[in-house]
Amino acid sequence: MSTSTAPDPTSIPNPPPSSNPPTTTTTNQNNLTWSPSLTHPQRSLLRRQKGLTIWLTGLSASGKSTIASALETTLLSPPHSLSAYRLDGDNIRQGLNSDLGFSPSDREENIRRIAHVAALFADACTLAITSFISPYRADRETARKLHAERGLEFVEVWVDVSVEEAERRDPKGLYKKARKGELKEFTGISAPYEEPESAEIRIRGAETSVEEAVKQIVRFLEGKGYLKKGQVQEGGLVEM
Ligand code: ADP
Repeated sequence: MSTSTAPDPTSIPNPPPSSNPPTTTTTNQNNLTWSPSLTHPQRSLLRRQKGLTIWLTGLSASGKSTIASALETTLLSPPHSLSAYRLDGDNIRQGLNSDLGFSPSDREENIRRIAHVAALFADACTLAITSFISPYRADRETARKLHAERGLEFVEVWVDVSVEEAERRDPKGLYKKARKGELKEFTGISAPYEEPESAEIRIRGAETSVEEAVKQIVRFLEGKGYLKKGQVQEGGLVEM
């Protein structure tokens, strides 16, 4: 007789109604059908990992991609060994969002789509790490709300460097081009960056090394219990 520890999803307690998808097939006003599925907490227990989104925002050249990349590696590697995935310009702007430019409405649509993709990764119990300028407060709030509606945590990380510091780094020469007027609607020069008012984490990029920035984020995530892994216990129960 096998002593399999696979839990029976039906024995996993239901979460509060707000994070529960419909338990029966429902059809909304657009005739889209949502079939019943596991709730996120049930999926987390089976997957033994929480999913959430870590949303990096800041000026171009503030260090978002560098920090996101180092954070992804840290979370994937022991001792954490968690599922983590980075969404950035390379895999989103050049693919799914290749039809979008940098006008305010295109930026809004860019962030809306990224938020939906990140929420899907988070729902699939992965630590989704996004690194996009995401300059508008309202768009970041939309992303946060979209996660909250699905019972998913959203951690906003402001990589805070001044325009002067970003311009001094300018690894791709974008600020130089923007100053010459060769790049229109460039955040910090000819388009606004709305600073976060209540980001969970603020990294002072000019005086923080990449390694320290990663530690700061990991400390926050650990403090919230977001990096805990499920334990298989006697009787096959899994607890986060
Ligand atoms: P973003 O993704 O915000 O545009 P990048 O991650 O591409 O920014 O970083 C821009 C430049 O700044 C790169 O040359 C990178 O090596 C450097 N950089 C990133 N983080 C730091 C840091 N904490 N301190 C000093 N330089 C950094």
